[in-house]
Amino acid sequence: MQLAPGLHRLGDGLINAYLLDDGGAVTIIDASVSGYWGDLPAELAAMGRTLEDVRAIVLTHGHSDHIGFAERGRRERGWPVHVHELDAALARGEVPNPAKGLGPVKIGPLLSFMWFGARHGGLRTTVVKEVATYGDGATLDVPGSPRVILVPGHTPGSAALHVPSHDALFAGDALATKAVTTGATGPMLAPFTADPAEARRSLERLRGIEAHWLLPGHGLPWTDGVEAAIARIDG
Ligand SMILES: [Zn+2]
Repeated sequence: MQLAPGLHRLGDGLINAYLLDDGGAVTIIDASVSGYWGDLPAELAAMGRTLEDVRAIVLTHGHSDHIGFAERGRRERGWPVHVHELDAALARGEVPNPAKGLGPVKIGPLLSFMWFGARHGGLRTTVVKEVATYGDGATLDVPGSPRVILVPGHTPGSAALHVPSHDALFAGDALATKAVTTGATGPMLAPFTADPAEARRSLERLRGIEAHWLLPGHGLPWTDGVEAAIARIDG
């Protein structure tokens, strides 16, 4: 769906991927679960674009519900897949998920999330064979020129991506506005976070960023400002 001109979301808000148009060239932010592949042509068409216009996939981190169709895009379309250097091994499937547990769980929402993931190919996630790595502070040479802010905690290489031209900050799972494990909504640290204390400290790195669109990996867009989101997480 369109959020703003040149800014679209795949999925209905439970597991998000975003499409960013910059003068006719498109960057995909996160690759969700593999079943979203089939939704790409229609979403691109809604932007007046096609698969031919996609230049890159940028991953916010290496978790399986974010790398979904990345390998297919790389293999079939030649799209480079960018990820922070500290999450490269995770995206390539060389190390286990660093998350230690689920945290609080409500069984209904958790089962819906798992069922949704399974129906959309989450059980068939293919690791990314080759990734291009980026570092903290980099401005990526892909459409939209996202600037990288390393926000470790959810995973060691979790990154937020600031795209001033679209007034957007892609948070990945540095924060969520929906807990897939409990159904709770509003800004929060995401479930499956490896180091919650570090994740909370990392939010300090986002303070001062002006972005109308704060776009999480899970949940609906937050449009009340980055500071307000962080304040809500502080309780
Ligand atoms: Zn996630």
